Amino acid sequence: MSKALRLSEKWFRRGLWLVAFVFAGFLIGLGGTIVGDLPKVEAPLALDDFLDPAAVGPLRAQAQSARQAEDEARTALEQARLQLTKARSETQAERETFNNWLAARSATQRAEHDPEVIARTQRLDALKAGEQRARQAVQAQEQALLDARQSASQARAQLSKLEDAGYQRMAAEQRRVELRVFLYRLALTLPLLAVAGWLFAKKRQSTWWPFVWGFIYFALFAFFVELVPYLPSYGGYVRYVVGIIVTALVGRYAIVALNRYLERQRQAESLPDQQRRQELGYDVALARLAKGVCPGCERPVDLKNEAIDFCPHCGIGLFDRCGACSTRKSAFARFCHACGTQARPAG
Ligand SMILES: [Zn+2]
Ligand SMILES: [Zn+2]
Repeated sequence: MSKALRLSEKWFRRGLWLVAFVFAGFLIGLGGTIVGDLPKVEAPLALDDFLDPAAVGPLRAQAQSARQAEDEARTALEQARLQLTKARSETQAERETFNNWLAARSATQRAEHDPEVIARTQRLDALKAGEQRARQAVQAQEQALLDARQSASQARAQLSKLEDAGYQRMAAEQRRVELRVFLYRLALTLPLLAVAGWLFAKKRQSTWWPFVWGFIYFALFAFFVELVPYLPSYGGYVRYVVGIIVTALVGRYAIVALNRYLERQRQAESLPDQQRRQELGYDVALARLAKGVCPGCERPVDLKNEAIDFCPHCGIGLFDRCGACSTRKSAFARFCHACGTQARPAG
């Protein structure tokens, strides 16, 4: 992937980068389809799988029947209360008429009224007895309601104790499932990443570089999108540790590459002028000159100043004179721009 200056070559390279991205896109799509079509390895977890049905079943039935009994007792209680109110008002009415009648009778003092006194008293007693029965019925329903309520809350308390234990077991199983899913994904993506690393190290500048880079992007996508979100967290420890390791590896690679570049540059700058000129690619040299830096050492040089023929930093010749017409010309040009004579071959 050297710097290209020819117009068509530039556009070819852009097109090839496009090929690399499209290739990566199709690989990602294919990978996603394959993963989607794999049989689902893990069934979703349900709480009931972690409860003992022999213990939970009767409790649930008890809670259910207690709730039902509670409803029934509540309805019956309403009815009984209504009956009590009715009986009470009947007694009240009877007592009032009886008292009025007694007052009238004591005024007249008629002896033939005595049997009626007894009959009325008996009727009042009967009504009072009825009221008492209605009150007992109300109390019985209140008792039934209380019993049902207590039974329901007892069943619920036991049930929630069992369910808490079940939730804990389910959470533990959930963590194991997460780890398993992560390991499946690791088994799929790690070989891809290894191949991508090898391709990056050995093949990134080969003739087939668009496919190499397409595959590298695909592997990076698989690693950071398909794998990293499934990393078990363990309270963040794993993610931070993996982040530290990955950053350390990338940083180490960058530092080593920088030192290698500086070492190569130092060695190149110590070589004789002609040899350095030969080792520099023509297009690389022109690209660097266009950016206003010395092609040999990449440091800034004032190329417009006609007094400067050599790089003040590394000493490489930047301008020389044509062998035929003595015009001052770029030392990296292959032909004299004034007379077209071929520049002196290096050496
Ligand atoms: Zn220089
Ligand atoms: Zn010339």
